[in-house]
Amino acid sequence: MATSSGEHSAVTNFRKYLRIKSIQPNVDYDGCLSFLKNQATEIGLDYEVFEVLPKKPIVVLTWKGQNPSLSSILLSSHMDVVPVFPDKWKFEPFSAEKTENGDIYARGSQDMKCVGIQYLEAIRRLKAEGKSCLRNIYLSFSSDEEIGSGPWIEFLKRKEFSQMNVGFALDEGIANPGDEFRIFYAERQVWWVRVTCSGQPGHGSQILKNTAGMKLRNVINSFLDFRTKEENRLNSDEKLTLGDVTTVNLTMLEGGIQYNVVPDKLSVGFDIRIPPTADLKAFESTIKTWCQEAGEEVTYEFVQKHEGQDITSTDKNDPWWSAFSSTMEALGQKIVKEIFPAGTDSKHTRKCGIPAIGFSPMNKTPILLHDHNEYLNEKIFLKGIDVYYALIPALANVAQ
Ligand code: ZN
Repeated sequence: MATSSGEHSAVTNFRKYLRIKSIQPNVDYDGCLSFLKNQATEIGLDYEVFEVLPKKPIVVLTWKGQNPSLSSILLSSHMDVVPVFPDKWKFEPFSAEKTENGDIYARGSQDMKCVGIQYLEAIRRLKAEGKSCLRNIYLSFSSDEEIGSGPWIEFLKRKEFSQMNVGFALDEGIANPGDEFRIFYAERQVWWVRVTCSGQPGHGSQILKNTAGMKLRNVINSFLDFRTKEENRLNSDEKLTLGDVTTVNLTMLEGGIQYNVVPDKLSVGFDIRIPPTADLKAFESTIKTWCQEAGEEVTYEFVQKHEGQDITSTDKNDPWWSAFSSTMEALGQKIVKEIFPAGTDSKHTRKCGIPAIGFSPMNKTPILLHDHNEYLNEKIFLKGIDVYYALIPALANVAQ
């Protein structure tokens, strides 16, 4: 498996993929497509591209199973990566420089070109050994996940997607500095709320009644008092992770004309992330109450409001979970189950009724997604291929 340089060929392949500048907002999708087409040809997988939105391709590679009438397994990843601040990096972020101890520095090394290549390398090895699986296996490489997943949402509506008859999906997770793999079975919902306070305008020298500013203070106090409550709840219970609590952040403030004018309107925006286990109706009526209590003419609107509460089963009797968890057990790998604190393509896949697990095999690794100096060690990367080498057939051979 070693190339002439002594490097494992899978690592060389990974570094090649990392060097393609698939950086937002001008993503080199053409570069990704020709790379993936080559991979498909080498490994012997069917290759298809769906341009669901102009210049926003979804690549699908297929490894046919022995019984294509069974539902299939979907191995998802995205091709795009977030922007960089190159002067904050030790190495050029698209050089995929490898240090002596095997750390590979590149944007996308954790999020999530590693996983895309690990799927491919595991299947390359399985096929080379003449193995085959019961179910069809699809590898999808999506575009623009980092700016809202538009193409993936569109693809899920296509008949080509429903024809794939997906029964179970894997997608990205996140690194863990500890020994365990973090396994995500649900995601928090995103609510962006804008609250607008209207009131008496006038001269900045007066003590006016009913001003927008006084109401705005009440609104901010209610939202941020709740924030503190949730923070305390998280800190007081060891079993809770960020995904189990509701987070509130004040992210936008709008209003004002000039310093000596009391404005007739001020507004504030909050980024709220709610666990799928929360009572969404009750939470919205709480927001309504906060606005009413803040004074007259205080209104709220949703800039974004996701209401999916899909949770993938991690019951020991669930055939997918049983295949997943027993593989980890056989590998001697500890796992922790969590609700993903941010958002991935998985939540859209789950919305179609498809169980999905978010998982990137990166333990003993600092969390550096979207950060400067994102890297992954080659040994961790190669171990991840071993994990998929066991996991993919375990899932694709689930009998019913
Ligand atoms: Zn990602």
